[in-house]
Amino acid sequence: MNFSLRNRIAFFYIVATALLTVLLFTTVYYVVSDTVYDHLDSDLDSEAAEIFNNLVILQNDIIFANPFEWTEREHGQVEVNPVFIQITDSRGAVLKKTPNLGKVKLRVDTLLLSKHYLSTTLSGSPTRQMQTPIQNPTGKVLGFIIISIPLEESALVLENLRWVLLIAFPLVLLLLFLISRFIAGKSISPINKVILTAQHITRENINERIELPPHKDEIFKLTSTVNKLLDRLEDAVLREKQFTSDASHELRTPLAVIKGTLEVLIRKPREVEQYENKIKYCIGEVDRMSGLVEQLLMLARYESGKIKPLISEINVNALLSSVISRNKELIRKKKIEINISGSDGIIVCADQSMLEVILDNLLSNAVKYSSERSVIDFVAEKKDTGIILTLKDYGIGMTPDQSSRIFDRFYRADESRNSDVHGNGLGLSIVKKLSDLQGLKITLVSKPSEGSAFSILFNG
Ligand code: ADP
Repeated sequence: MNFSLRNRIAFFYIVATALLTVLLFTTVYYVVSDTVYDHLDSDLDSEAAEIFNNLVILQNDIIFANPFEWTEREHGQVEVNPVFIQITDSRGAVLKKTPNLGKVKLRVDTLLLSKHYLSTTLSGSPTRQMQTPIQNPTGKVLGFIIISIPLEESALVLENLRWVLLIAFPLVLLLLFLISRFIAGKSISPINKVILTAQHITRENINERIELPPHKDEIFKLTSTVNKLLDRLEDAVLREKQFTSDASHELRTPLAVIKGTLEVLIRKPREVEQYENKIKYCIGEVDRMSGLVEQLLMLARYESGKIKPLISEINVNALLSSVISRNKELIRKKKIEINISGSDGIIVCADQSMLEVILDNLLSNAVKYSSERSVIDFVAEKKDTGIILTLKDYGIGMTPDQSSRIFDRFYRADESRNSDVHGNGLGLSIVKKLSDLQGLKITLVSKPSEGSAFSILFNG
C-alpha cells in the first residue's frame, strides 16, 4: 500500500493513542464501578450492624429483640430505595424476612461461612446482596442474615459511563487522527518544496539551488546536503564539459595542421624531397593524435570502473629495469644518468600493469622536463607506514600553484616553457586515476629550477 509519510505518522500516532486511551478508559470504568460497589457494600454493612443490634444470640437460638421493627420500618412497602432483609437458620430455612419481599426468597448459600457480597438479580432486577453468618459466642453458625438492595441506579450510572466511553473512544481517535495528519502535513511541507525544486533541476539549470528553510533543523540539514550534492554534480558536469572541449581542441589542432599542409602541398607540383618532408610531418601529427586517442580511451576505460586492479607481489628491481628499458631511447637521447638505490629485495603489492603505466609516465616526464646530461634518482625506502618509492629529477621543477593542478586532465604547466616538449596533459591524470584505483598515495615535492620528486606510498 502506498501510504504517504504524513498518513504514516498520523497512523502510528493514532495506534499509540488508541492503546493509551483503552488503558485510560478501562481504568476510569473500573475505578468508578469499584467506588459504586464500595458505597453499596458499606450501606449493606451498616444495615447488617443495625440488624445485629436487634438480635439476641443465645447458645443455640436467635431471639428477635424488636419484633415490631420488621413491619414498622421502611421495609413495609416497595419504596424508592427499598432494602430487602431475610434471616435464615443454619440450613437456609427462612426465620424472618421483610414484608417487601412478599413470596420471594433471597438466595442463600449455607456453605459460605464468612461475609460475602455479590451482584445478582431479584425478580429480574439487578441487586447487590450481602450474606453474613450469625454465630454464637463459641463461633457456631446459627443462621444467616441476607440483605439485598436494588442496583438499578448504580447500574444505570455504570451503563451510561460505559456508553459514553465507547462512543467517545472512536470519536477521540478520529479527531486525533485528523489533527495529527494536519500537523504532520504542516511539518513535512518543506520537504515537498525540496522535492519540487530538486525535480526541475536538470543539466541545463544545474546552478540552481534549493532555498534553505529558516530554522536549523533536520530539513535544513537535508536541504543543505542536497545543495552540496548539487555543487558536486555541477562541478562534475563543468569538468566533463571542459574535458570534451579540451579533447576536441587537442584533436582539431593537429587535424587543421595536417589539412593545411596537404592543401599547400597539392597546390603545385613539388620536389620529391618536399613531399617526403611534409608527409613525414603529417605522419608525426597523426602519431600524436593516435597517442592522444589511446590515452583518452585508457582514461575512459579506467573511469568506467569496470577494470579492477589485480594485486600481486612485485619485485621493485625487476619493475624498474623494465620501465627504464622501455624509455631507454628517450634517456639515451638526452644522455640522462639514472641512479637506483635501496630497491634490492624490496617487494611491493600492486597491479603490475597499472604500476608500469604509472612509472612509465613519471619517468618519461622526468626525462622530458630535465635538461641534457641531467640525473634521475630512483629511491626505495622501507618506513613504518609502508614502502615509499621516489622518483627525483633535477629538471625545471614547478611552482606550488602548478604542482596543485598537474593531476587535472589536459593541464600543462606554463605552455610556453614546454612548447618544444610534446605532451597533452593527460599523463598525470592517468597516473592519479590508476593510483586511486589501487589505493596508492602519490605526493609531490617540487621547486622551480631545482627539480621535482614524485613519491608513491605502498601501504605496509
Ligand atoms: P604532459 O603530457 O604535458 O607531460 P602530464 O599530465 O604528464 O602531461 O603532465 C602535466 C604537466 O605537469 C606537464 O605539462 C608539466 O608542465 C608538468 N610536469 C609533469 N612532470 C613534471 C616534472 N617531472 N617536472 C616538471 N614539470 C612536470
